[in-house]
Amino acid sequence: DDQKPLPTPSPDTVHYRALDGAHHIHPFSDMGALNRMGSRVITKAQGVYLWDSDGHRLIDGMAGLWCVNVGYGRKELAEAAYRQMCELSYYNTFFKTTHPSVAELSALLAQLAGPPFTHFFYCTSGSEANDTVLRIVYRYWATQGQPQKKYVISRKNGYHGSTIAGATLGGMAYMHEQMPSKVEHIVHIDQPYFFAEAEPGMTPDAFGLERARQLEAKILELGPENVAAFIGEPFQGAGGVIFPPSTYWPEIERICRRYDVLLVADEVIGGFGRTGKWFAHRHFGFKPDLMALAKGITSGYVPLGAVAICERVAQAIVEHGEFNHGMTYSGHPVATAVALANLALMREEAIVERVKDDTGPYFQFRLREAFEGHPIVGEIAGVGLVAGLQLAREPRSRTRFENGAEVAGICRDLCFSGNLIMRASGDRMLLAPPLVISKPEIDELVAKAKQAIDATARRVGMM
Ligand code: PMP
Repeated sequence: DDQKPLPTPSPDTVHYRALDGAHHIHPFSDMGALNRMGSRVITKAQGVYLWDSDGHRLIDGMAGLWCVNVGYGRKELAEAAYRQMCELSYYNTFFKTTHPSVAELSALLAQLAGPPFTHFFYCTSGSEANDTVLRIVYRYWATQGQPQKKYVISRKNGYHGSTIAGATLGGMAYMHEQMPSKVEHIVHIDQPYFFAEAEPGMTPDAFGLERARQLEAKILELGPENVAAFIGEPFQGAGGVIFPPSTYWPEIERICRRYDVLLVADEVIGGFGRTGKWFAHRHFGFKPDLMALAKGITSGYVPLGAVAICERVAQAIVEHGEFNHGMTYSGHPVATAVALANLALMREEAIVERVKDDTGPYFQFRLREAFEGHPIVGEIAGVGLVAGLQLAREPRSRTRFENGAEVAGICRDLCFSGNLIMRASGDRMLLAPPLVISKPEIDELVAKAKQAIDATARRVGMM
């Protein structure tokens, strides 16, 4: 059971819990356990704070689900949605029509993403963006007279969404277990998770190269003429904020170029400023051919996903007749209008620059100050406003807890009851606050995280 009952639930709390328990299935939840405890009812949010129906204020260390980049409650975005709904609430882009906000957003994204990205395809989520990536990749190779190029290589413990294709691309065994059939021609290689998987004595640089070269081995095993694409998150998000060694991505890029395999960056979490760059691949120094985008594109105010397409692939699609793919809400006017307002706000307030030069370095410094040498923290990974804290029984020898997920679950519950949202993934604790977080708010966040991790250490007898 991972939820704690709150003292004195208010009448509102009792009411919504009853309705919710009777009629709502939550994502990725053990509903039996959740209903016995009751959900926390979140009723309001502003800036980096959430309020529940019992009047508690929580600091949101996860920006919702890594998406509320400009923080909660920005009127500019609400007004953009209102104006767009009054002017053109909906129209599609299937049959020879377009509309102003989708056209403007495409031009703005081309500017922000820069070369080689020239074109954008829209959907409503990161999962759909990755489904669309597959459709584009297959279409591209078919137009090049190479329809047999259909293997897509991904990584274990990667996350690419929850649709059948998204979950197949992802390397989450616990999701695969609940899927009797998967999308064909998707194969996985090992992840670049140094702390957990490097042999003793191996340097991070050597490990990064070794893991990247698994891609080359897999391409050669399948035959380069059969491999369409490689996909990876620049840093693994849901898998634990795992930062690959610096040797990893340049080697992946070299291998993709050598064998003419499209390189896809899943920027659903990393995109729109999280690392202090507009896109996370820039932090790691490689150039993808396609990007999956979602979340921060609208700061989560309304659903929107997109695929950024490089010129070579876009031209092939443009010049070869109909591409049989699209959703009712592809390029939804309200979603694209909100994205425009969100990106305008990020630029006006220089939010990405602030993350890069000011709040990001401050956050990373504070975390290291709080957790370096901590009895149960073995690694502090991150840059900008994203971080992963590796819990470990013996940090120095990289010895993990036998029951690491349980320990992280305890920590997460302690955070939650201490009014901090921090996520657990395996035996890592994750932070990705809204990009507008101030320094005093960072101090509060880190202090609360420290309290929870100290309390966890005491629970497991390590402090
Ligand atoms: N890719 C990555 C890297 C993600 O983190 C996520 C969601 N956390 C997705 C894809 C799927 O996005 P969505 O939940 O919007 O379908």
